[in-house]
Amino acid sequence: MGSFVIENVRAVASDRVIPDAAVAVEDGLIAGVGKTGELRADRTVDGEGLYLSPGFIDVHLHGGGGADFMDADPASVRTALSAHMAHGTTTAVPTTLCAEDEELSAVFDSVTEFRRSEDAARLPRVPGVHLEGPFISPAQAGAQDPKYIKTPSPAAWRDVLRRAHGELLIWTVAPELEGAAAMCCELSGEGIVFSAGHSDATFDEAAAAYDAGYTMATHLYSSMSTIVRVRGERVPGLLEASLLRDDVVCEVIADGRHLPIPLLRLIMKTKGPDRVVLVTDAMRGAGMPDGEYILGSRKRGQRVLVFDGIAHMPDGISFAGSVATADRLVRVMTKDAGVPLHDAVRMMTKNPASAIGLADRGTLEAGKLADLVLFDGDVNVKSVYIGGEKTV
Ligand SMILES: [Zn+2]
Repeated sequence: MGSFVIENVRAVASDRVIPDAAVAVEDGLIAGVGKTGELRADRTVDGEGLYLSPGFIDVHLHGGGGADFMDADPASVRTALSAHMAHGTTTAVPTTLCAEDEELSAVFDSVTEFRRSEDAARLPRVPGVHLEGPFISPAQAGAQDPKYIKTPSPAAWRDVLRRAHGELLIWTVAPELEGAAAMCCELSGEGIVFSAGHSDATFDEAAAAYDAGYTMATHLYSSMSTIVRVRGERVPGLLEASLLRDDVVCEVIADGRHLPIPLLRLIMKTKGPDRVVLVTDAMRGAGMPDGEYILGSRKRGQRVLVFDGIAHMPDGISFAGSVATADRLVRVMTKDAGVPLHDAVRMMTKNPASAIGLADRGTLEAGKLADLVLFDGDVNVKSVYIGGEKTV
């Protein structure tokens, strides 16, 4: 494919924005970062003064563009990935809901099949699947259908692993469930990232889980226990344990609707820019007009309504996932929560890459994958590169 240099950009490094920068690409990898005019290659692309950052990495998304990963067919995987790619996502971890065993098997199979297909190279990379359930607390089910919730007996989790045939990357589990601790102990050496969520754990139960090998918290504040009063005493929950522990990385749905701006600022103040991972938690309505959509699979999902920039459950009381895309998260964090651009981008690139153990992407450094995004001052995505190929 030859080499090229994108010049005249503001390069978003993990600790600063470098003005008048250039990024060289060769054989699908970043070959160097320097000043405009400094780097040599076969051809030059004018970045027109736009920001250039690593491609966005979304470790928690259910769908977009009208498709849900629970549809369990490679065409839906393509549709959802392509909707998010238009907004800067270059690595995505398709996320499931609690469902029938056969449905989960079909989701894993569809991801494997998609990855083997020819057009996979021109769409966001899919390093594995994020299983959100089925071992969650009925008391914190959120928008998940409680009839598919299970207890993590060894037979039950071994069955899930068999169905996943190596595709399981992140597992959201309620750590207080009987059997959950033993499961994490047995599996955390297998390259599965355990994330505490949809959980009613007390602070002590949450702390024990983090000691036992859980490294992430799933969508902080949403579907997780917080302070309750027991005979007058305040008992903190998973939320407080996740905020307090420096060794825990927290997913944050920064669409500006799930969490009000003061809470985003509070999270930044307690966790800092190294331990936050921005996630969309997007459902199939992301990148689509307002209207009625199905949350989950077309066959067995639930009817939800999208308006005002979010998906609502029909009861009107709770949210049913977001319709955000990665660019919106970066925009909300910078424009509304007052976070420096390089930090907001880091939470959408480097942090998620390291949270799931992908050392080959997420920063603008020589040798990393040339997954790149060009965007303007309002984080409107103008171009996307995956492995050095322009895909948007
Ligand atoms: Zn989710």
